[in-house]
Amino acid sequence: MNDFINEPLLELRRAPVRANLTDALQTLDAQLPWRVPVIIGGERRDEPSFTSHDPGAPDRVVAHVTAATAHEVDAAVHAAAQAAPEWEARGAHARAAILSRAAGELRRRRPLLAALAVRECGKPWAEADADVCETIDFLEYYAQQAITLEHSNGLVQLPGERNTLRYAARGVVAVVGPWNFPLAIPAGMVAAGLATGNGVVLKPAEQSPACALAVVEAFHAAGVPPAALNLLPGEGDVGAALVAHPGVHTIAFTGSGAVGLEILKTAATLAPGQRHLKRVVAEMGGKNCVIVDADADLDDVVPALVYSAFGFAGQKCSAAARALVHHRIADTLVERLHGAVDELLIDQAQRFGVDVPPVIEAAARERVNGFITTAHEQGARVHQPGTAPARGHFVAPAVIDRLPAGSRVTEEEIFGPVLAVEAVASIDEACAIVANSPFALTGGLFSRDPATVARVSRQLPVGNLYVNRHITGAMVGRQPFGGNRLSGTGTKAGGPDYLLHFVEPRVVTEDT
Ligand code: GLU
Repeated sequence: MNDFINEPLLELRRAPVRANLTDALQTLDAQLPWRVPVIIGGERRDEPSFTSHDPGAPDRVVAHVTAATAHEVDAAVHAAAQAAPEWEARGAHARAAILSRAAGELRRRRPLLAALAVRECGKPWAEADADVCETIDFLEYYAQQAITLEHSNGLVQLPGERNTLRYAARGVVAVVGPWNFPLAIPAGMVAAGLATGNGVVLKPAEQSPACALAVVEAFHAAGVPPAALNLLPGEGDVGAALVAHPGVHTIAFTGSGAVGLEILKTAATLAPGQRHLKRVVAEMGGKNCVIVDADADLDDVVPALVYSAFGFAGQKCSAAARALVHHRIADTLVERLHGAVDELLIDQAQRFGVDVPPVIEAAARERVNGFITTAHEQGARVHQPGTAPARGHFVAPAVIDRLPAGSRVTEEEIFGPVLAVEAVASIDEACAIVANSPFALTGGLFSRDPATVARVSRQLPVGNLYVNRHITGAMVGRQPFGGNRLSGTGTKAGGPDYLLHFVEPRVVTEDT
């Protein structure tokens, strides 16, 4: 894939760009609350039963949302199944053209979409803009990849025998999306399903249904047949009913490990009448380690670690959770991290330059605070200097060291602005810690020694290793993203083999 380029990020240092976004936020605010209906075959049912909120101002309702019923789950899967054959028959070029047009729709709405992610998920502008750009990237990239896939036929041919390999759509793709990349991740999974000729049913996270609606509307406006993409807002019960439905062929999921395991279990159970095996593409949690060698340049390490751990309040699967630091520089690094955290701006997502926005909801704040309390109780040193604004679900960022071995603060995914720092005797000890972890999503290494870089890169089991830089923000096409072990099914979103999970290979051999 040589001619793919990532959508350029906005230059937020320029005042007119910021003014444009502020205008978009005002426009959006005047529209709030949105209404998010169930959409099946283009038909809308709008009878709200729950709401989504601004995490920075929980009394601001972003959307009144209709929760799908069990009957609607069934209807949506049937609609997708019926639409799929005609959609697939159009061929990859025609489908790609529509996905590209959908990318164009999103491009035109960039400021409003970013504003929506700011409001509904508390994403700071830079992160919200990156989310929109990644959405566009996924659509363009998978559109191109689907064409490549359609033309690939690398089989051995003999005289008198013609072998043809075709990648057929599997049927119905159920997409269960997260709220932390409320546009890009659901849109990416939807785009993969559509690009390969499947019908799709999207169940977005209950925290970000309005973002999902904006994505679905862009696909429909671009010409995706209404029944080929259906929207089922709701809570966990809707997702559970969807993945259990016998008419679903592929489940694409990003979210917590607990839910991911449930999905894998459900997918392995044959429902009455089911005549196929379900396939699961799951992207789950992490406990990502950054290894810092004694020769590392701390001027690079400090900002990269701070951004990786505290950007978007640590609410990325890819975020840095543990720094494993060579003991010779551990004290110096901790001191410098303290200084850097002292300067972080904790505030509402819409404020330009904010470093740490609120976490998504009250329950998340309680969970993260629980880990910080544990650290205090275990006698660790907790550096948490910031004061969180009174309004909103804020947690001030914390750097924690001197934790006892095996603390749950170093072992469990926190998904909040908490970084644990541990001194290690050697880089081999750090590698052993990573090797013993049940997670293997992202990782980082700071070292100036090429031999160390080569050795550690070969050893670590993580899906995405970043050397001498921050460890979040994988770019479509450049850093295919996804983890191993309990972090996921080893699939790589935004990579050259991702679409293979949404198709079934069929070979025709003809004696000529
Ligand atoms: N792809 C994102 C990144 O590289 C993380 C996605 C996630 O949190 O699920 O930062």
